Amino acid sequence: MYDVVVVGARCAGASVATLLARRGHRVALVDRAAFPSDTISSHFLWTQGAARLASWGLLDRLQSRGCNPIPALTFDFGSVVLAGRVPAVLGVSDCFCPRRTVLDTLLVDAAVEAGVEFFDRT
Ligand SMILES: Cc1cc2nc3c(=O)[nH]c(=O)nc-3n(C[C@H](O)[C@H](O)[C@H](O)COP(=O)(O)OP(=O)(O)OC[C@H]3O[C@@H](n4cnc5c(N)ncnc54)[C@H](O)[C@@H]3O)c2cc1C
Repeated sequence: MYDVVVVGARCAGASVATLLARRGHRVALVDRAAFPSDTISSHFLWTQGAARLASWGLLDRLQSRGCNPIPALTFDFGSVVLAGRVPAVLGVSDCFCPRRTVLDTLLVDAAVEAGVEFFDRT
């Protein structure tokens, strides 16, 4: 029934499933976890990741789900403080810090929208 079955539906799996479905493949996406859910990870997206989301048409959606841009960073090591902006990637100069419940759900929603059949708890 499927051209591809993707196992794991978070950053990697949901993204690749979306890209394959957008190219016309029949894709199933499975994850043993229930969604939405957290995973063992913090959640900092550098400009590279934000640029990926922008190129897939998903960065505005991330912001509309309450994730605000982070235009500047400060790393405070006590005796040394580094502060500034991260170099832009493909015109995207902001970082983001979405909870994985937000980011992973957004990616799964995009996959389903692209025609992927999604099965969690699987
Ligand atoms: C403590 C920690 C902090 C981190 N902080 C950051 C950060 O701030 N910024 C950043 O960019 N990266 C961070 N990372 C790295 C980031 O979490 C990973 O690179 C990213 O989650 C990998 O995404 P993934 O989709 O490949 O895998 P995962 O997010 O691990 O998802 C894999 C999914 O596959 C499912 N799965 C696995 N095997 C099966 C199976 N047999 N059947 C069904 N489902 C299955 C799991 O349930 C899971 O949902 C951190 C990682 C850790 C551990």
